[in-house]
Amino acid sequence: MTALRFDPPTLPPGAEALREEVRRFLADERAKGTWSPRGDFGTHPDTAFSRLVGQQGWIGMTWPRQYGGHERSGLERYVVTEELLVSGAPITAHWIADRQSGPLILRVGTEAQKQRFLPAIARGEIFFCIGMSEPDSGSDLVSIRTKGTKVEGGWRITGRKVWTSNAHICDYAITLVRTGPQEPDRHSGLSQFILDLKAPGVEIRPIRNLAGHHDFNEMILDDVFLADDMLVGQPGDGWKQVTSELAFERSGPERFLSTYRLLAALVDRGGTAPDDRVAEATGRFVAHMWALRGMSLSIAGMLQAGETPNLEAACVKDLGNAFERAIPETARLVAPSAMPVAGANDPFETIQAEAVLNAPSITLRGGTREILRGIIARGLGLR
Ligand SMILES: Cc1cc2nc3c(=O)[nH]c(=O)nc-3n(C[C@H](O)[C@H](O)[C@H](O)COP(=O)(O)OP(=O)(O)OC[C@H]3O[C@@H](n4cnc5c(N)ncnc54)[C@H](O)[C@@H]3O)c2cc1C
Repeated sequence: MTALRFDPPTLPPGAEALREEVRRFLADERAKGTWSPRGDFGTHPDTAFSRLVGQQGWIGMTWPRQYGGHERSGLERYVVTEELLVSGAPITAHWIADRQSGPLILRVGTEAQKQRFLPAIARGEIFFCIGMSEPDSGSDLVSIRTKGTKVEGGWRITGRKVWTSNAHICDYAITLVRTGPQEPDRHSGLSQFILDLKAPGVEIRPIRNLAGHHDFNEMILDDVFLADDMLVGQPGDGWKQVTSELAFERSGPERFLSTYRLLAALVDRGGTAPDDRVAEATGRFVAHMWALRGMSLSIAGMLQAGETPNLEAACVKDLGNAFERAIPETARLVAPSAMPVAGANDPFETIQAEAVLNAPSITLRGGTREILRGIIARGLGLR
């Protein structure tokens, strides 16, 4: 049986000074009225705020300077990320480009793509989203039907993507397309493209989520022409490229901090003399959070060392998502509000309402619970 590895993490020297720098920036900008705390990291995009984060050097932190990056370590990036998340800063506009699209372009993109896209991402000037899921293909992503046909000078793309978070405010989508047959196996024949969301033939339709917000979309691609230089990596390598991003996508602090603000509000509400139920619940949650943070940081260390800990990342996402969902559930029982409603006068109720409405999506986005457990079982040699 394969053993799971979570080596104890050590933050680099200077990490705490960097943490203070981020806290100061957030406090100063909040005092100026630039931003106010939001709930889940995937909601409320604010492109102007993302530009400010870019100006601090906190987007593309680990990328080479020649492409607009800052050559800092993955663990320094971790510190910045966790501070932005726990404060509830509106970071979703640049989130995907910083976490996934930029690193993908850096790894397999052409020199021209690196020069064209990475510096603008790092400045917080262009934004990316993920065009993978389709109406009948979510967990079973290889069954996608969006098709790319080779033509003179490029590709013609036709199909339909769904649940595309933030497509309506982004400039580009890294889009997974079937460009060849499923041979020698069904994972073959997929390719990734940089899709210009303003290209002729792209239509973006809003989908409102449970909270009534417009965060994700449907994307209709009707014979969209993409020039050859918008292909990322090699044709047919799409599946390999997508799966190599998974450890980045599934192990970060966003996988266990989505409802952190509610936990903090619960601690505040309990005050210095919380009743037994609140004390027991918050004590348990804080202990769990600390263990999850250790696991997640450990993966950041492995990624920094060039490893691909997909199995460990699946564990962090599954355990972290269960933790994020348990907080609103328990808060509802130990600190009942009249009826949590968004926009309530009581800040605790507002935070609680947002967490309750966002919670169901937590175990779906980025891979469902059942899929993660299948990966873990396979990784451990149990299936
Ligand atoms: C908030 C949010 C944001 C999202 N943003 C994006 C985005 O930006 N880009 C994008 O491409 N996608 C996005 N998604 C889509 C997300 O990746 C899919 O919802 C997810 O992969 C599940 O796919 P599905 O919805 O088609 O459900 P299905 O795959 O149809 O699953 C339905 C149920 O069946 C279970 N199931 C499926 N297969 C198996 C199996 N083999 N064994 C056991 N159980 C199984 C699942 O666990 C689930 O409970 C987002 C989703 C959410 C909720």
